[in-house]
Amino acid sequence: TEELLRKSDKLAVAGQLAAGLAHEIRNPLTSLRGFLQLLQHAMKDKQHYFDIMLSELDRINFIVSEFLVIAKPEAIQYKQGNLTAILQSVTALLETQAALGGAVLTLDFEEDIPDIVCSEMHLKQLFINLVKNALEAIFKDGRVHITVSMAGPNLIRVRTEDNGCGIPEERVKQLGEPFYTTKEKGTGLGLMMCFKIVEAHRGHLHIESTVGQGTTIDVLLPVME
Ligand code: ADP
Ligand code: MG
Repeated sequence: TEELLRKSDKLAVAGQLAAGLAHEIRNPLTSLRGFLQLLQHAMKDKQHYFDIMLSELDRINFIVSEFLVIAKPEAIQYKQGNLTAILQSVTALLETQAALGGAVLTLDFEEDIPDIVCSEMHLKQLFINLVKNALEAIFKDGRVHITVSMAGPNLIRVRTEDNGCGIPEERVKQLGEPFYTTKEKGTGLGLMMCFKIVEAHRGHLHIESTVGQGTTIDVLLPVME
């Protein structure tokens, strides 16, 4: 009976996921079809339609790729990598976006952080997600600060701090559940993916938050043996 229950639980979760995913995919698809029809009538001077179509396509891609990571963590390919280098490239990537929103994104790192065994692509995606969430949580005088440091002889800590809206205590334990979002255009899949990626790297993700003050997220990853 216990095993049956577990199976039906899994099926229920899978069903919920599929339903949510279908819902998320259908909206941008509807919009794409509409604009394509408009284009059939007027091809000229309609760059704007192309822009919307491209961003909707990106969104579909994004949602589906988030799902693929979650569905197949065993397919991740691991290599030697370095967290300082990864965070430098993530910061460079998002600095401009932060500045456009009137926020400041900064990075600090200890010298000679040892290498880890990782999938650089997935770790980048993980930290991009955390920084994007931070940027979306801040408003006036927004600051997002990343620190890479040693948390023990064999443990590296990447801390992402923001001075954004914060998360109510009772909500913090809900984070990482699929489709939990407070954003109109959110997917509620980002943090779930973050937890999965960290878990696949044998690390830990820890969230601390105070409403009105900000959020601190620690990612702890073991150094390479
Ligand atoms: P999404 O960003 O699409 O909403 P996520 O899984 O990335 O989905 O995040 C889920 C929710 O967690 C967000 O909608 C937001 O309410 C909350 N959250 C995540 N990171 C932060 C943060 N740094 N500050 C405040 N709230 C956050
Ligand atoms: Mg997010």
